[in-house]
Amino acid sequence: MGIRTTSGLGQLYASVLDTVGNTPVIRLNRIAPDHVTVYVKAEAFNPAASVKDRLALNIIEAAERDGKLQPGQTVVEATSGNTGVGLAMVCAAKGYPLVVTMADSFSIERRKLMRFFGAKVVLTPRAEKGYGMYRKARELADANGWFLARQFETSANADIHESTTGSEIVADFKGERLDYFVTGYGTGGTASGVGRVLRRERPETRIILTEPANAAIVASGHVQARSDDGAPAESHPAFEPHPIQGWTPDFIPLVLQEAIDNHYYDDLVPVAGSDGMQWARRLACEEGILTGVSGGSTVAVAMQVAETAEPGSVLLAMLPDTGERYLSTPLFEHIEAEMSEQEVALSKSTPGYQMP
Ligand code: PMP
Repeated sequence: MGIRTTSGLGQLYASVLDTVGNTPVIRLNRIAPDHVTVYVKAEAFNPAASVKDRLALNIIEAAERDGKLQPGQTVVEATSGNTGVGLAMVCAAKGYPLVVTMADSFSIERRKLMRFFGAKVVLTPRAEKGYGMYRKARELADANGWFLARQFETSANADIHESTTGSEIVADFKGERLDYFVTGYGTGGTASGVGRVLRRERPETRIILTEPANAAIVASGHVQARSDDGAPAESHPAFEPHPIQGWTPDFIPLVLQEAIDNHYYDDLVPVAGSDGMQWARRLACEEGILTGVSGGSTVAVAMQVAETAEPGSVLLAMLPDTGERYLSTPLFEHIEAEMSEQEVALSKSTPGYQMP
C-alpha cells in the first residue's frame, strides 16, 4: 500500500459557519457482530464538535431571517452544554453576545468552553433540573429584552436536521441498504428532523428511539403538560437524574412530540448509562472513535438491535459529540493522570530509566 494522499476540500471557506454539517458516516470494523454492518455518524466533526452546531446555526439564522434577532442583540438559552458551545461558536462568529443558563451538574469543560468563546454562563442548582435552567433563561430574556433561543420548542431545530442531518444520511446511503437508524433525544431535533426524511425517503428503515432506562419518560406514557407556547408546565413524573448528558431533560420537549405524534420510531429501547459508558470506551479503544456517553449509549442500543437483526442488516447509530467533552466526568474516572504499575515497570525496563 502506497502512502496516503489527500486533495483538499475543493473550496476556501468564507466562515467557520460554512463548515457545519456534512459529518462522516463511518463503518465499525472490530466491535460489531459479523452478521451485520454497523455505521456511526460522527457529529464530533462539526466545528464546535457536536451535533448541536447545526441547531445553533439555524436558530440564529432563522431569527435573523424573521427579524426576531437584531444586530448586536444578546442571545440567551438554557442548555446542558453542547447547544451552549454551538451557540457560543456561532455568536462569536456573527458578533452576538451570549448568556447561557446551565445546571451545575453538567461537566466543567462545557462551561469553560462556552466562556472561552466569550459567552457568559449563569449556573442554576441541579435540584431545579432542566426546568430550573429554562425558567432562569426566560426570566433573563423577559427582564432584558434578549432573544431566547428556545431549542426545545423552535421549529428551527427539527427543520435543520431535516435539511442537513437527514438529507446527508439519505445521500450517503443512496443505493445502499439501511435497515435501522438509532438515536436518542435531548430536544428531539435529530429524531424529528431525521424521522421526517427517513419516513418520506427510506420507508423501509426501522427507526429506533432510545432513552435512559431510569428516565424513560416517553415509555411511561404520561402525557407532558404544556403552556400555550409549547414549553413544559411541569417536571415529568417519570424523570430521574441520569448519567447520559445531553439526553432526556425532565420534560418531553415539544420538538420531540412531533416524532411521538407522527410515529417516527418503530421501537423505543431503554439503555443504562453504565452500558453507554462501556460502549463509548470500546469505541475509543477498539475502533479509535472518540464519542461521549450519549454516543456510547446509542451504540449500546444498536448492538442490542444487531443481536436479533437478520444477517446482512445495515445499522446506523448517531454519535452526537466527542469524548473530550467528558474528561472531568465518570466516563474518564478509570483514567489516571499518574503512571500505572505497568507503566512504571515499562519506564524501569530500559537502562536509561529516568522517573521520578
Ligand atoms: N447527545 C448529546 C451529548 C447532546 O448534547 C444532545 C443535544 N442536547 C443530544 C445527544 C440529543 O440531540 P437532540 O437535541 O437533537 O435530540
